[in-house]
Amino acid sequence: MNTDSVLSCNLVQVAACGRIARQWFIFLRIHINASNEMEEKMKKIVKTLTLGCCLLVLAAFQVNASETTAHKPAPAEVIKMLQEGNQRFVNGKSIHPHADSARLIQAGKENQGNHAYATVITCSDSRVPVERIFDAGVMDIFVIRVAGNVVDTDEAGSIEYGLAHVNTPVLVVLGHTQCGAVTAVTDAVQGHGHPLEINIPPLVDNIQPAVERAIAAHPEAKGKDVVPYGIEENVWQGIEDLFMRSPASREMVKSGKAKVVGAIYDVSTGAVNWLPEDKVTTILAKVESDPHRQTQAMAGGEAQHGTTH
Ligand SMILES: [Zn+2]
Repeated sequence: MNTDSVLSCNLVQVAACGRIARQWFIFLRIHINASNEMEEKMKKIVKTLTLGCCLLVLAAFQVNASETTAHKPAPAEVIKMLQEGNQRFVNGKSIHPHADSARLIQAGKENQGNHAYATVITCSDSRVPVERIFDAGVMDIFVIRVAGNVVDTDEAGSIEYGLAHVNTPVLVVLGHTQCGAVTAVTDAVQGHGHPLEINIPPLVDNIQPAVERAIAAHPEAKGKDVVPYGIEENVWQGIEDLFMRSPASREMVKSGKAKVVGAIYDVSTGAVNWLPEDKVTTILAKVESDPHRQTQAMAGGEAQHGTTH
């Protein structure tokens, strides 16, 4: 049962309680020729019954409301689940959860927002099958895949949907080793680029600042040796681009409702290497002081205080 139907159901119950209490009182007044003292006692009894009835309905509402979120684990628990799933995958001991027909029937009937526990944005690379590498199943992970795991408007919108509407407590920005998109941008920045199809440059332009930072931070690295550093920087770039574009994501992280973590998947071992969590806090603080960050959280408002490009 979703929150809307729980709410409407309980409003009906409250209204019914009120009607019952009024009918009780009318019944008692009509059928019992009571003294004033008796009438006062009856009024007290009816008030007590009404109050009790309402408290019961409120308690029922709280139970129902918590049912929609109670099974969503805390962010730290989600990260542990992802780590354990990846460990099973690496060890060849995947249990392939939530992959049977019963789960499909459940998926057809229920709201994914009551089940999916993580949003993951990663590269389109065929070596990064998200549910497999985390040993997860149907209705477990809200996945966004785009070459180079870049975060432009469409990806930021998808992430906002995952965090705010599918209610996943965790977002993983997942880069991977040997990423072709990061390699192509590294080649271009180093002057070894080649002609690209018309839509690719605007796709990968988000990666360029990451590669430039990697080169600046590691002057000893030459040629392709820059790529692994660029891959990590590109994860941080994705998180920064998300925060720049999405006040909703910033607020969810600040309030503790959601956690954003960076990680890099090793295509040759299957292992997910988790990046330091405090770096996300540093990036968020940097964005919060950036005048170019988006400050309008919701679409459809009148004011556009900040823009991203
Ligand atoms: Zn890639």
